[in-house]
Amino acid sequence: MVKILSGKEIAEVIKREVAEEVKKMSIPPCLHVIQVGNNEASAVYVANKIKSAREVGIISHHTHFSATITQAELLEKIRQLNVDDSVDGILVQLPLPSHINEDMILESIHPEKDVDGFNPVNAGKLFQGKQTIPPCTPAGVIEILKRSHIAIEGKKAVVIGRSNIVGKPMAMMLLQENATVTICHSRTENLERITAQADILIAAIGKAGFIREKHIKEGAVVIDVGINKVTDESLVRELFDQTELEKRLKAVKEKGFTLVGDVSPKSAKQKAGFFTPVPGGVGLLTVAMLMKNTLKASQLRRN
Ligand code: NAD
Repeated sequence: MVKILSGKEIAEVIKREVAEEVKKMSIPPCLHVIQVGNNEASAVYVANKIKSAREVGIISHHTHFSATITQAELLEKIRQLNVDDSVDGILVQLPLPSHINEDMILESIHPEKDVDGFNPVNAGKLFQGKQTIPPCTPAGVIEILKRSHIAIEGKKAVVIGRSNIVGKPMAMMLLQENATVTICHSRTENLERITAQADILIAAIGKAGFIREKHIKEGAVVIDVGINKVTDESLVRELFDQTELEKRLKAVKEKGFTLVGDVSPKSAKQKAGFFTPVPGGVGLLTVAMLMKNTLKASQLRRN
């Protein structure tokens, strides 16, 4: 019988811990969120981040630029925030419009204020196993595993996906926890032969319900990082069993889509020992970890 790992409870505990630490500080940490353009998903993410900051007592500021802002103007704003001593964390919500070089923007954020952990300096420190500000999503996965008392040390962990935001840092963090780590990606041959050996399987692919029974080892811990909008009713029928199917089909009818991870929940239920749901799993941890990172950034910088 699969055990569902709820991100909700763990995220709430982390936020409570952050709030308690913030209360002890004479000046609360300050997070500055920059949004560019009117991407619908970005607006939701930014609103969630600001709401969470408020809940834990972190001061938050939000600068919303139009999509026509130039790269130079955005860099100038980040430069100002880098030297503003009252700001502990700077977050630029991705994606940015195509005329702006995302890498250049992320590299311009001062590593000490890089609460997303995307700056190459912080990525390099993570690679070397040094104290750093880690990317929120993989850090959230580690929290889920640890707080659910799932052993990582010595286990075979397979990460599917090699992005700088999720896959690569995820692999580094699992290595840091003494797992034996394999990274798979779009060019991996015989994917299921590798994934079916994983004690811990992390899917960060971006393809709805891609991971099926054949990919999963009996009893494995399956962590689903993917967030995909599914509009196709026949795919919904394929991915969900009777316990959830009706609710999901209703969502497609009413909202036009339902959110699905990279793992087929039906397959995970049949094969996995532990499974994170979508929604309600890793996604909730990402925001909680941003709060934790902002607290950490302020503590490291001020001390
Ligand atoms: P990405 O597109 O940058 O990377 C996807 C990775 O999947 C690539 O490295 C690619 O090699 C691999 N891949 C693609 N097709 C594959 C295949 N057929 N077989 C094996 N590997 C394959 O995406 P990303 O930014 O890393 O995000 C991955 C997923 O995680 C997306 O669904 C995204 O929405 C989600 N995500 C969730 C959170 C969260 O808070 N839960 C945060 C970030 C990303």
